[in-house]
Amino acid sequence: SGNRHAISGLHIVHIAAEMAPVAKVGGLADVVAGLSKALRNKGHSVEIILPKYDCMQHDQITNFKVLDVVIQSYFDGNLFSNNVWTGTVEGLPVYFIEPQHPSKFFWRAQYYGEHDDFKRYSYFSRAALELLYQSGKKIDMIHCHDWQTAFVAPLYWDIYATRGFNSARICFTCHNFEYQGTAPAPDLSYCGLDVEQLDRPDRMQDNAHGRINVAKGGIVYSNIVTTVSPTYALEVRSEGGHGLQDTLKMHSRKFVGILNGIDTEIWNPSTDRFLAVQYSATDLQGKAANKAFLRKQLGLYSEDTSQPLVGCITRLVPQKGLHLIRHAIHKTSELGGQFVLLGSSPVPHIQSEFEGVADQFQKNNNIRLILKYDEALSHCIYAASDMFIIPSMFEPCGLTQMIAMRYGSVPIVRKTGGLSDSVFDFDDETIPIELQNGFTFDRADEQDLSGCLERAFSYYSRKPMVWKQLVQKDMQIDFSWDSPASQYENLYQSAVAQARGAAQAS
Ligand code: ADP
Repeated sequence: SGNRHAISGLHIVHIAAEMAPVAKVGGLADVVAGLSKALRNKGHSVEIILPKYDCMQHDQITNFKVLDVVIQSYFDGNLFSNNVWTGTVEGLPVYFIEPQHPSKFFWRAQYYGEHDDFKRYSYFSRAALELLYQSGKKIDMIHCHDWQTAFVAPLYWDIYATRGFNSARICFTCHNFEYQGTAPAPDLSYCGLDVEQLDRPDRMQDNAHGRINVAKGGIVYSNIVTTVSPTYALEVRSEGGHGLQDTLKMHSRKFVGILNGIDTEIWNPSTDRFLAVQYSATDLQGKAANKAFLRKQLGLYSEDTSQPLVGCITRLVPQKGLHLIRHAIHKTSELGGQFVLLGSSPVPHIQSEFEGVADQFQKNNNIRLILKYDEALSHCIYAASDMFIIPSMFEPCGLTQMIAMRYGSVPIVRKTGGLSDSVFDFDDETIPIELQNGFTFDRADEQDLSGCLERAFSYYSRKPMVWKQLVQKDMQIDFSWDSPASQYENLYQSAVAQARGAAQAS
């Protein structure tokens, strides 16, 4: 595609803490699976390395087996053995690393949030590189994600490249700059990195505190640095960078924002097995059936089958605009709609705050809060809802607005980050009509949100034919990984071409 360096059949390895559906906490898991599949479909060889978590969804892996080889990897002055398991997830080859370390790093009954996450993931990053090194494979691109595996970048250049394992180039994607992985500088030495060399302002030293910052290391030591939308890539060059803005500006030549896609095989209302009835843009009766079904399932009674249903599916963390979510519940009820929230919080006091709200509405026919993680129910809510609300304070990309549109639920979002790159206001005359697909508001306050909800409700009830066309248009937008994966492919190819050019010249 116009790239004169195009090299087909790259060997790409993703090293990550999550992958859908086997080990999923949030959007990162969807990206690793979706991007990998799309790259494979473009003719590349793609492998993924994950920790072997005790709590992962083992039933999502086929041909799961332990390999004969044991990989020894360095940690805190010693070598430890790792069992390596392989299996197929979503048709892709995945390696799972099981450390034989007394701290039982991935036997914690949860993915993140352990007191020693810094150790757990620096151990994993080192062991993953060791696995690649010992396999002797010729790899073109190692793609690491978020701070948990950003250790890979400095480890690769400082330890492995000097041992002759140097064919690969490194891509680092930061999915959320709120999480950077900082620790006291000496902790960096656990995985074998040289603290004295790296604890410097132009390397891995945090820009504000005298700590070490792993996301910064990912930026400094990778050949390609990406984040998950163009608008977020601009935002993080200023306040949104949570302290990394200067580092990003310094390295801006290799930094780009690429809007995520969604897995359009998993998220497809015409084949989705979680739904009561499958449907498509040309046959919306099935959507009404899913709405009726969900209402019954959740005990949301309504005389009026066309009463609008607003959905919200989210992790309950401050980033998501918690006060605005609460306000949207009240405002929806005031406007005569119904509201379904599916969400759970890793923060105990937020979880219990929302349990309070759920109790308050328990006897209300129009409002349900389901405060857990539930994949199957999430599909039913996307299908059943007419509108979908995302009032985030900031949003690197956001996947739920794209999934909602694919299921014919019109997004109502705050104009920030990736939401700005994917949702365009229906009433904004500066935007071409073909692109108008939802409702947006600017400020993170209750008035702006209320005004936006009112506009959506007004179209819904007063102009049903216009609304129906909007729903059909949204369902037909291409949010697949095809185009974003081509952008990654182009970045990979020029980095690999440069590397090969350099190898030939020397
Ligand atoms: P983030 O990565 O910040 O959590 P994204 O919008 O990028 O947000 O991705 C969220 C993903 O997680 C979507 O696939 C969404 O459907 C899913 N999700 C979030 N909360 C829940 C929940 N409680 N139950 C089921 N799925 C959820």
